[in-house]
Amino acid sequence: MKKLVLIGGGHSHAIALKKWGMNPLSEVELTLITNVVKTPYSGMLPGYIAGFYSFDQCHIDLPSLAKYSHAKIYIDQAIGLDLEKNLVICKNNSPIPFDLLSIDIGSTPTVLSIPGAIEHTIAVKPISKLLQYWHQLIEEIQQNPQQKIRLAIVGGGAGGVELAFNIHSHLTQIYQQANQPLNQLELHLIHSGKRLLSERHPSLSRKVENLLKKLKIHLHFNETVDQVDETQNSIKKISCKSGLTLECDRIFWVTQASASPWLKQAGLTTDKRGFILVNDNLQSVSHPQVFAAGDIATMVNYPRPKAGVFAVRQGQPLLENLKRSLEEKPLKPFIPQKEFLILIGTGDQKAIASKAWFNIGPNSLLWRWKDYIDQKFMKQFKN
Ligand SMILES: Cc1cc2nc3c(=O)[nH]c(=O)nc-3n(C[C@H](O)[C@H](O)[C@H](O)COP(=O)(O)OP(=O)(O)OC[C@H]3O[C@@H](n4cnc5c(N)ncnc54)[C@H](O)[C@@H]3O)c2cc1C
Repeated sequence: MKKLVLIGGGHSHAIALKKWGMNPLSEVELTLITNVVKTPYSGMLPGYIAGFYSFDQCHIDLPSLAKYSHAKIYIDQAIGLDLEKNLVICKNNSPIPFDLLSIDIGSTPTVLSIPGAIEHTIAVKPISKLLQYWHQLIEEIQQNPQQKIRLAIVGGGAGGVELAFNIHSHLTQIYQQANQPLNQLELHLIHSGKRLLSERHPSLSRKVENLLKKLKIHLHFNETVDQVDETQNSIKKISCKSGLTLECDRIFWVTQASASPWLKQAGLTTDKRGFILVNDNLQSVSHPQVFAAGDIATMVNYPRPKAGVFAVRQGQPLLENLKRSLEEKPLKPFIPQKEFLILIGTGDQKAIASKAWFNIGPNSLLWRWKDYIDQKFMKQFKN
């Protein structure tokens, strides 16, 4: 019996598990190692923050999925690999052996060595932690809506922008319901670049910046945070290289993605940021018994931004190549699209669609389209 082990229940693995369940290979024992029971679907996460979706609507239940695919499941955290003996080292269980390994553990925001950032800010990944802090904050505001709240988001990529729209949307709803003025909320978005969404076309950046300004969200460009402190009464103080300082109650950290260090330490060849380098077959360039997909993988020939849309697209080709590898058949290359459509929810049940230089919206028709696509994606994991 060959052993196929999947680490992480990210988007690519969720799809692979589902499709495996529909058409499994006999004589293969499938195992999933995941540090969470319910994994978030990134497309609906901003909508959850805004209060449009319930927790279950935007989370995939991994034990149910594992049951469907006849996979063994370990709720545990992988913390290392022994690539000579082909073992996954876990935090709580004994080492788990494999013949073939696939890794889809996502990424976390880069904190680098900024003093105070780890202790005093809320990293947006792992999402489960972010949501824990988010629920606490909502409860606090609901209990005391008379109190002014100052929030900062560090990072002006797609994640930071969506977070800004949707945090604003949910909190202003709470203030409105409590008959409180909307200027109770002071929201800052701090970005090191000269425009938001620097990886997309400038026309989209302008559109998004104007919308955020209309919501009275304070935008700070060309600002690099170099220290975060906490005062005695739990106020956080952000200091930027330019000399700008900001005091706030909570800081959300949504900067560039970074990788878990244990992958490189295990001997896998990685890119400069520690992401596993894979070939066109989604196979490690250094260890053919290891595959990787989603944020944690960087395709040598087709590097792409770290986005859920790529993790979703890689699900099917990953599964196909895992099966081919187990059956000792030639692998099939996968070429990801260069230009991809993004739908950005603006927190008011409207969305902007953008592909290459073109963008349209925000409008509610696009939101309904995005909602339809996302709900359809999630439907495949229900029941
Ligand atoms: C606020 C925010 C909004 C976003 N919105 C969008 C969006 O609208 N559209 C979009 O395309 N992208 C969006 N993104 C980016 C998107 O979240 C990621 O690109 C996407 O989640 C990557 O999917 P993945 O499969 O690589 O990993 P993930 O979805 O991160 O899944 C990884 C899984 O592995 C588990 N795991 C991690 N480490 C271990 C370990 N050591 N052992 C076991 N299990 C482990 C995790 O708990 C998780 O379940 C957003 C990101 C943020 C922060």
